[in-house]
Amino acid sequence: MGFVPTMGALHEGHLTLMRQARAECGSCVISIFVNPTQFGPTEDYNKYPRMEDRDLALAADAGVDVAFLPSVDTMYGNTSTTTISVGPIASMWEGALRPGHFEGVATVCAKLFHMVGAGTAYFGAKDYQQCLVIRRMVEDLAMPVRLRICETVRESDGLALSSRNAYLSEQERVAAPMLYKVLCEARDEIGNGRPVEEVLSLGIERLKACGFGVQYLAYVDADTLDPVSKPLRKGRLIVAAKLGSTRLIDNVDAGF
Ligand code: AMP
Repeated sequence: MGFVPTMGALHEGHLTLMRQARAECGSCVISIFVNPTQFGPTEDYNKYPRMEDRDLALAADAGVDVAFLPSVDTMYGNTSTTTISVGPIASMWEGALRPGHFEGVATVCAKLFHMVGAGTAYFGAKDYQQCLVIRRMVEDLAMPVRLRICETVRESDGLALSSRNAYLSEQERVAAPMLYKVLCEARDEIGNGRPVEEVLSLGIERLKACGFGVQYLAYVDADTLDPVSKPLRKGRLIVAAKLGSTRLIDNVDAGF
């Protein structure tokens, strides 16, 4: 069985995971659950887009066999206190900017895996650090779940599909593809031998010039997420930046 956990507001990125799960596993189960414990107190839990009827129709079209839509009460009741803390990989980058985020993600995924009985769980590389956090958890806790990480699905202009893209104003939507463009340029420049530090500060300047509030743009070891200063065989470029109040993340393979 293939399992695709989601928070709903489904788009082509989610649907691609579902089709792939169905094709590779023969059946596909999804969950739609906007998980309160992975949102910070000032984040968008309340305004996160919810559109269950539309999502269920799209999922059915993608060949999904079962959709699990638990309530917050079903997932946590009033007595639940156990959480999963994954360690260093969960406390850098996204984890540093969003304290408790990955604890929420790991805990809900562990619980969903148990409830659904996941055989192979599908995740998107769009949330690259999340993939590493889940991989670490599955390995450390010997969870009987296989993981499949699927490529990021993008708009034709390069913007990674995300439920949060719906928050962008018309003007912000025009600027948003710059995030991916800067990642690609940085990858090419590092590949051409330009010093990493220089490439990253230039990338940050480019993003700022387009109106982004840059939270990080980093060249990291693809397994540990530690920053690196020389081209690496398993390197990854990761970025988080805000356009207005909308926070976007993206990443590309930058191994040489
Ligand atoms: P979410 O609903 O945002 O929690 O995402 C559910 C799953 O879909 C996660 O594994 C995400 O990484 C994945 N996903 C989200 N956006 C994309 C995308 N543009 N391409 C591929 N996978 C994605």
